[in-house]
Amino acid sequence: MKPNETFPISAISPKVAHEFYDSIRGKTFNKTKVIVSSHNYQLTPSIEDLGNLVARIQATGADIVKIATTALDITDVARMFQIMVHSQVPFIGLVMGDRGLISRILSAKFGGYLTFGTLESGVVSAPGQPTLKDLLYLYNLRQLAPDTKVFGIIGKPVGHSKSPILFNEVFKSIGLNGVYLFLLVDDLANFLRTYSSTDFVGFSVTIPHKETALKCCDEVDPVAKSIGAVNCIVRRPTDGKLIGYNTDYVGAITAIENGLRGKHNGSSTTISPLAGKLFVVIGAGGAGKALAYGAKAKGARVVIANRTYDHARKLAYAIGGDALALADLDNYHPEDGMILANTTSIGMQPKVDETPVSKHALKYYSLVFDAVYTPKITRLLKEAEESGATIVTGLEMFMGQAYGQYENFTGLPAPKELFRKIMENY
Ligand code: NAP
Repeated sequence: MKPNETFPISAISPKVAHEFYDSIRGKTFNKTKVIVSSHNYQLTPSIEDLGNLVARIQATGADIVKIATTALDITDVARMFQIMVHSQVPFIGLVMGDRGLISRILSAKFGGYLTFGTLESGVVSAPGQPTLKDLLYLYNLRQLAPDTKVFGIIGKPVGHSKSPILFNEVFKSIGLNGVYLFLLVDDLANFLRTYSSTDFVGFSVTIPHKETALKCCDEVDPVAKSIGAVNCIVRRPTDGKLIGYNTDYVGAITAIENGLRGKHNGSSTTISPLAGKLFVVIGAGGAGKALAYGAKAKGARVVIANRTYDHARKLAYAIGGDALALADLDNYHPEDGMILANTTSIGMQPKVDETPVSKHALKYYSLVFDAVYTPKITRLLKEAEESGATIVTGLEMFMGQAYGQYENFTGLPAPKELFRKIMENY
């Protein structure tokens, strides 16, 4: 048989499949296994309907049952997993679309017979298929087993995140039996309710779910509560309760403190080098709140500059700082040696020519930090360096927040050198 004839009944009805199977049974194809498949391009049916479908396909005499459905929401995939773990026959269960991606990876954990990968990115035979390369080397598919623990980054969009590359590589290097996934989530509360098994151990949280995450957790770390945003959720193994943390705060502030200490010959006093500094935060979203809260907690005088002045005013009020309209930042220089932290997406790929503040204003800053890490050196950082400031990249914050997430997920100290090596090689 040619490759495209190998499973010739995948697109026809069970009745025709049955007839076909009868026609080949015991003949020249006695080593051939027959997959009978059903495709639903609209949705993923209820558990009951999926169960009935399996029975109907089995009744055709199929050796292997295959069902492909469509994910309207990531929680649809849970029904496929339920059918998969209880199947008495070899079963292929895949849920198509970006929201169904986890079906293609976790089928190796839940006992699926096989999964599909593409040879080339974007050249797919069904929506949502990952490449073979990603299945094998990003997700370490061959190592996945029923006891593999599941982690992932929850966001919308989420495909830009570097966390899966980092965490999967770390898990592989240290031999941790876990897989870290992209989780394209529309409704966070529904997601957490649906994937409530203790196998789903921990989640990173990004745009736009950080504030909702605070409400979805059973317990929230006091710092995360003060900031008003959670970027890390851990399921406590003893009682399954969800605990929320904010590691953005530590990641960013530590990176900036290290930058300042480096500038001051590496002196490591217990007093933060941020104490007493005038610290300007551009942005008042999740990252802006973390930076503003962190700088204030370290004794800095904080000013928030934001496109929507009202958001700047509210955040400044909450942390005890001052507010500024973003448009006024170019002419703001009450003193020299200030610190600037961009927490907006201005300058992020693809709009790499953009910058939140004019170059002439940068000479008043001794250190400039940019939360954007694609590209690593943004226009803001390039111009800040040219103006004589120390620069701290968003990649430093990214690694800092990832150390915290790792420690929350595993209870172990983060292998920082390994994290750094992976990100540098990437
Ligand atoms: P967010 O909650 O959506 O906040 C976005 C902020 O940026 C708001 O203050 C918004 O102002 C402002 N903003 C957005 N587009 C703008 C534009 N075109 N011009 C001026 N202001 C604009 O997002 P977030 O979670 O804080 O993330 C913000 C950035 O930080 C993203 O680029 C993200 O990738 C990065 N980040 C990096 C790390 C890291 O580890 N390096 C961690 C977290 C976040 P308004 O109030 O006017 O809407």
